[in-house]
Amino acid sequence: MATDAAGLVKILEKVAEKISENREFLTELDSAIGDADHGINMSKGFSAVVEKLHSQKIDDCGAILKTVGMTLVSTVGGASGPLYGTAFMKAGQAVAGKSSLDFQDFVTILEQALEGIKYRGKAQRGEKTIVDSLEPAVDILKDEKDSGDKGLVMEKALNAAKEGVEYTRSIIAKKGRASYLGERSIGHQDPGATSCYLMLQAAIEKIKEMSVNGL
Ligand code: ADP
Ligand code: MG
Repeated sequence: MATDAAGLVKILEKVAEKISENREFLTELDSAIGDADHGINMSKGFSAVVEKLHSQKIDDCGAILKTVGMTLVSTVGGASGPLYGTAFMKAGQAVAGKSSLDFQDFVTILEQALEGIKYRGKAQRGEKTIVDSLEPAVDILKDEKDSGDKGLVMEKALNAAKEGVEYTRSIIAKKGRASYLGERSIGHQDPGATSCYLMLQAAIEKIKEMSVNGL
């Protein structure tokens, strides 16, 4: 399983499509414990990302991810812009200069994205944030990255992220706008943990499709 820069752009387009399809859903989640803009923020940011990636051809996978990060920082309002922006920029640094990416790079990218989010947002697992879906997925990828069945490892990681999203329903928000609600945030699914799961889902779907169909 490996992809070149054009394949990476296809993966990012799929992520943008998934975010756009879930624009209302994410905004609805944010209306319960935030200010009802997460879906709007994210879809605006990813539309700008796709536009930017189509306006220039970049062969360096690291530079592509860095461009995504910078575009998100400059177009996404709210907490999620700098958080996801830092995630993509940090991931880009880790694969700078590479014209193709393999499964180990995919693991590195997500590992660095998590580092970036934790560095920027100072959240730990259990605080009802993006970290609650991303970290369980990264843990599985790190533990099982040498397994022979990469497809299965990605499925397991995605399931772990989904369980992380479910878990956010049961906990109190300790970071961001939702933390103002205290105990009243219990019972609600976190919008950021959800958007992160959806992005992972889209990326994994596309990676699998590309390795089967050689797209
Ligand atoms: P805002 O809260 O500024 O309106 P968004 O609605 O776009 O921004 O994003 C809200 C999401 O951001 C939350 O659901 C949460 O997952 C995530 N978030 C907020 N603060 C942090 C943080 N410090 N670390 C990680 N994620 C965070
Ligand atoms: Mg919001």
